[in-house]
Amino acid sequence: MAATMQVPLLDLKPQYAPLAAEIQAAIARVCASQAFILGPAVKELEASLAAYSQCRFGIGVSSGTDALLLALMALGIGAGDAVITSPFTFFATAGTIARTGARPLFCDIDPATLNLSAAAVASFISEQCEEREGELIHRASGARVRAIMPVHLYGQVAHMNALTSVAARHGLKVIEDAAQAIGAEDAAGKRAGSFGDVGCLSFFPTKNLGAFGDAGMCVTNDAALAERMEILRVHGGKPKYYHAFIGGNFRIDELQAAVLNIKLRHLDEWSAGRQRNAAYYDQAFARADLAGAVETPRVAPGVRHIYNQYVIRARERDALRAHLTAAGVGTEIYYPVPLHLQQCFAYLAHRAGEFPHSERAAAETLALPIYPELTELQLQYVVDSIAAFYRR
Ligand SMILES: *Cc1c(COP(=O)(O)O)cnc(C)c1O
Repeated sequence: MAATMQVPLLDLKPQYAPLAAEIQAAIARVCASQAFILGPAVKELEASLAAYSQCRFGIGVSSGTDALLLALMALGIGAGDAVITSPFTFFATAGTIARTGARPLFCDIDPATLNLSAAAVASFISEQCEEREGELIHRASGARVRAIMPVHLYGQVAHMNALTSVAARHGLKVIEDAAQAIGAEDAAGKRAGSFGDVGCLSFFPTKNLGAFGDAGMCVTNDAALAERMEILRVHGGKPKYYHAFIGGNFRIDELQAAVLNIKLRHLDEWSAGRQRNAAYYDQAFARADLAGAVETPRVAPGVRHIYNQYVIRARERDALRAHLTAAGVGTEIYYPVPLHLQQCFAYLAHRAGEFPHSERAAAETLALPIYPELTELQLQYVVDSIAAFYRR
């Protein structure tokens, strides 16, 4: 099929165009002030995003990755510890755990939502861990299990009620990787980032709220933890040059905060645009009647999915992807290699077949264009191009 239309996976230009003058003026104000570090724009962003995430405190940081790292460090997680997480996620989730010196412990996903399965976590704990003197020990490695790090993948909250009750039962902390899920809600209207001890947001440009570069935030309801994260963000110095802890430079830029303060006012309308596009796809795929070749995303009843990604399962996924590329449709595979099979985690000694739902998801899933400014013509073209592939 010749490309009769171009549908990129993401195009940020139509989002920027109507805000360009306002954003450039905000950047110009920061330039005029020459105050680039932890200024008023950062304070404003922290207050509004904490409130947006139903939390009391926000700590602006240099990226979503650094938000995860800072949360782990603030909870005192390091060598000898272990953190339970999903193998089907962006690398940073497990990468930051390993960087603290702790051991990532993988549990499989729920094949419906592709989020960490609370049942898998519960059986992992009962089969492979044991309580010793009030600590939960992973028997094979001897590591102390300290926390669970669920990921709200693609913009849908993980099954947090079940996960937080498993955590509470065993005295584990909960760090939410909410990098893809700003404003996502469970069926009770509770937002991503507000369930656990710390929620970690990313403003990487492809996220629903994207900066002009790297930025992120930790949100929390715990005042002591918030203070610890603020101190660790500036090398652990408080007062300045007096170090009770070893932190890092995890600061968000004032320039990024100035941009994000403006963009935040439009976040709900953008997320609504993504939801509208997802609903269009759902119906168009149902109409196309592809006889099981394509499975559209499964959304738990009543939740607010913010569709950072719209990810289908597709028969002959790689051939379909090549066909779509030729047809001018941008796609991506999030993520082709589950983390337990990454070369850098060979020391964890996992095998293929160990987490079958994650491995199947890595082999079958494909992200389609979902950004809010797509037209119905473009969405229909994506579905028609997919239908043409299976009818070839
Ligand atoms: C984007 C992302 C991160 C990392 O965020 P950065 O801002 O790119 O460092 C972490 N986890 C998940 C699930 C992500 O999607």
